[in-house]
Amino acid sequence: MAIEALAGKVRAGGRLSADEALELYLAAPTHVLGRLAHDVRGRKHPDRSVTYIIDRNVNYTNVCVARCSFCAFYRPVGAKDGYVLGFDDVFRKIEETIELGGGQLLLQGGHNPDLPIEWYEDLFRAVKARYPAFKLHALSSPEVLHISRLSQVSVPEVIRRLVEAGLDSIPGGGAEILVDRVRKLLHCYSKASSDEWLDVMRHAHRAGLRTTATMMYGSVEIAAERIEHMMRLRDLQDETGGFTAFIAWSYQPDHTELRGVEATGIEYLRTLAIARLVLDNIDNLQASWVTQGGKVGQLSLSYGANDMGSVMIEENVVRAAGAAYCMDEVEIVRNIEDAGYLPRRRNMHYEILGGPVFRERDIPRLLELATARADGDTSIPVELIKYPPRSRAERDRRHAS
Ligand code: SF4
Repeated sequence: MAIEALAGKVRAGGRLSADEALELYLAAPTHVLGRLAHDVRGRKHPDRSVTYIIDRNVNYTNVCVARCSFCAFYRPVGAKDGYVLGFDDVFRKIEETIELGGGQLLLQGGHNPDLPIEWYEDLFRAVKARYPAFKLHALSSPEVLHISRLSQVSVPEVIRRLVEAGLDSIPGGGAEILVDRVRKLLHCYSKASSDEWLDVMRHAHRAGLRTTATMMYGSVEIAAERIEHMMRLRDLQDETGGFTAFIAWSYQPDHTELRGVEATGIEYLRTLAIARLVLDNIDNLQASWVTQGGKVGQLSLSYGANDMGSVMIEENVVRAAGAAYCMDEVEIVRNIEDAGYLPRRRNMHYEILGGPVFRERDIPRLLELATARADGDTSIPVELIKYPPRSRAERDRRHAS
């Protein structure tokens, strides 16, 4: 079909097939894609609001047995600079988040063989006992799968136990590209195949949890595989309705085993725009300014995005691979308003909580990102001793101490 005919189909509210989406993605001029995506965004969000959330990205451990080739964050088991955060570290990060007006942690980490399901349950219960209203948006699909395999508990049972302990929602990380050919090339097929990633989300949605969905593009996949990824998300959303938002970000190559080059800003905007056209059943698209920077993040609002994601208090994963953009609430709001929109603070369910916190009370400015823990800190959390070691390295370490 000609581009103009496809554009007409989108304008009339028609649903794109995979072939049609690919044709638009590859051949439509960028301004046409952007205009179509902007119109769809306008139909879904007719007011001039752009939302954002204040939460904190906390990586509880960098020790990981998955060893994905695109990841610069993980450390192998036994590495000197491997860490697990103590519960007190997590409490301190929560208190700093609350001081900034936040109410949620985005808690993700490596696949650490020495953390059984009980460690997560104890952490979640301890957080909820101290901060009952604070939300835990935690553990991507592959982490849930890792806990299931490690503790020999089924995925639905892992989800049930973690929800009982305090899990509120699940972030959409670890999806990369939901095509097994690509996952095998990226060494992430064994952490979760495409079906397994989707199946964890399916179980989470059935259990009443809401989750997000992501896509990391620009590594080894071809354009048709990006579209296939979106189609698989669209199918699951038709089935469950459990995704609140979609976030696409570009592969960050620095310090990774895979290396390569990063996709350009135009490729990001085109990918965001086609996602807005394909994912007609997911209401919210986030601008990934964390990988694209504030300026492209701001432009995203004209290419289908209606949300600026999170104020960035701490970031370890993308920074390890070379990107360290930092925006606090003042800066996010400045970017939203300068683009002609109304900034609205939200929670994970996209319920509006109010306007900017910094206009209601004094909060500290955040001009650089916090880290998981201070450089040179090699302390071992006291509570780890409660859980039997599983890896040889951890057994040896305990024996030596
Ligand atoms: S992306 Fe996640 S699962 Fe893969 S190596 Fe990095 S920390 Fe581990």
